[in-house]
Amino acid sequence: MRDPSEILSEVFGYESFRDNQRAIVEHVIGGGDALVLMPTGGGKSLCYQVPALARAGVGVVVSPLIALMKDQVDALRQLGVRAAQVNSSLSAAEAYAVEQQMRAGELDLVYVAPERLCTPRFLQHLEATPLALFAIDEAHCVSQWGHDFRPEYRQLAVLHERFPSVPRLALTATADEPTREDIVEQLDLREAERFVSGFDRPNIRYTVVPKDNPKKQLLRLIDTEHPNDSGIVYCLSRNRTEQVAGFLNEHGHDALPYHAGLDGATRDEHQRRFLLEDRLIIVATIAFGMGIDKPDVRFVAHLDLPKSMEAYYQETGRAGRDGLPANAWMAYGLQDAATMRNFIERSEAPDAQKRLEHRKLDTLLAYCETTRCRRRVLLEYFGEQRDEPCGNCDTCLRPVETWDATVAAQKAISCAYRTDQVFGASHLIDVLLGVETEKVLRFGHHRVSTFNIGTEMTRKSWQSVYRQLIAMGLLAVDGEHGSLRLTAKAMPVLRGERELMLRKDPKLKRERKAKKARREAMRFESVEQSELYEALRAKRSALAKEQDVPPYIVFNDATLMEMTLERPRDLGALRHITGVGEAKLERYGEAFLEVLCGDAPVGDGAG
Ligand code: ADP
Ligand code: ZN
Repeated sequence: MRDPSEILSEVFGYESFRDNQRAIVEHVIGGGDALVLMPTGGGKSLCYQVPALARAGVGVVVSPLIALMKDQVDALRQLGVRAAQVNSSLSAAEAYAVEQQMRAGELDLVYVAPERLCTPRFLQHLEATPLALFAIDEAHCVSQWGHDFRPEYRQLAVLHERFPSVPRLALTATADEPTREDIVEQLDLREAERFVSGFDRPNIRYTVVPKDNPKKQLLRLIDTEHPNDSGIVYCLSRNRTEQVAGFLNEHGHDALPYHAGLDGATRDEHQRRFLLEDRLIIVATIAFGMGIDKPDVRFVAHLDLPKSMEAYYQETGRAGRDGLPANAWMAYGLQDAATMRNFIERSEAPDAQKRLEHRKLDTLLAYCETTRCRRRVLLEYFGEQRDEPCGNCDTCLRPVETWDATVAAQKAISCAYRTDQVFGASHLIDVLLGVETEKVLRFGHHRVSTFNIGTEMTRKSWQSVYRQLIAMGLLAVDGEHGSLRLTAKAMPVLRGERELMLRKDPKLKRERKAKKARREAMRFESVEQSELYEALRAKRSALAKEQDVPPYIVFNDATLMEMTLERPRDLGALRHITGVGEAKLERYGEAFLEVLCGDAPVGDGAG
């Protein structure tokens, strides 16, 4: 049997296992079953790929998404691993060929869709196949509690009955308690050892900014921190995805929309380009993302609120799967809470469901407005405590100042009260600032006691106050016009029984600093290094295009980055770079050395 560390180095080109990986690999090689809970990008694949190579026989991987199988198989083949897929994308003859190879033990790994696996025919093939292990990827699909229930997954219990001596791993990044127990129950994994990694994604930097011309804010983020990167921008509506994509294109960034209103062919084409190109931005509704396994998404931006903390974690989790620095950035404003409340109210859901959704929204709003470390708030929501602030979120990097807003809140709340609780924030601010708009005069609001009592503050500051009062639940947003109504929670503040501290919104101009942050994040000290990196990317793109595979399948960003920093100049040195195993050294070594040994690498910016 081959030693797992040797496999890790020779095949994958990695120096060491991460966190739980070694324990899991050894446990499975020893024949044990395992339940593996690991966040996205944690490195789940190696947990079954290494044991499948170490043990005799074929490793069978059950995976729900046919679209992803091809990439995984392509990536393994690049590493010199004998991998294949069996699913409905193959012709009968092709499937037959794979089945024969399987039975002959000529494959290391076979990816198969659950519905195929459970057919009597395929099970018969398996009976005749020397088996190394079963890996059940995206195991939460077995659970009704999970967000992605696949009834076919229920049938996988048959594996244990038919092949009791073959080790099984169930792997997922979704791990709330009910789902976890359901997986164990449904797949009969009671005896399995559990390997639970935390939810934290330390390489993701969380930032929430007050919305103030969000398209421009987004453009500034991309221009300063991600000029050559892939990213996902989430918007609530189809129209908006089109607008924003158009806007980004006008400003020199390649961006494509993605939403349910596009026909299937266009959607597939946009998704395919996103996977194959390495600096494309997708502007999408939440319809986009499921099954996007692209490791080098450098930013996920929300121009509208996600539905819940779970959704936020999942959507932002699509950034930085490769472990390199990535941004989760959100612009959030006064209107967003109203829009989301409206959404919930207008849905067909039963009342209990609506109450639940309102509560979920409350939690999310509290996250947006927090003055604490965002990572701590996020992880606490998933039941994880951490002792220290993270140092890699906006509130850690630029501690939020708070101010005593008791009097301002009293003015803001009583202004809503004096005008009968049927107006939205912008009108209330007009009243506070003493602006005699047509509407103010028409309703006689220049005669109410709160008229002109707020001139000590700017309009922006009042917007900030209203936004936070809504987020804290002191004011409720009603109806389509966003009118503000007092809740019971407002009374103690109005009566002066409760002090109220609010966050001071940070100033928005940070371009210079952002640029520096980008350089630090990329760890490049010189222009030469940035240029070398771009030249390596261009080489990678060219090689990927020739084979019609995504660039990261050739080498991922981490590998190119290490090449840039270490600048190996011969094959021996290149072999020491993380991600360069024997097969890739042979296949690509010379091509990359040409770039690395060139005197003046010039990035053509097209990589
Ligand atoms: P998951 O399936 O958990 O989302 P993957 O298995 O796709 O994560 O791994 C995420 C990334 O981390 C991949 O680019 C993978 O090559 C890399 N990776 C995983 N384990 C290691 C390791 N031990 N050393 C270096 N890179 C690793
Ligand atoms: Zn933090």
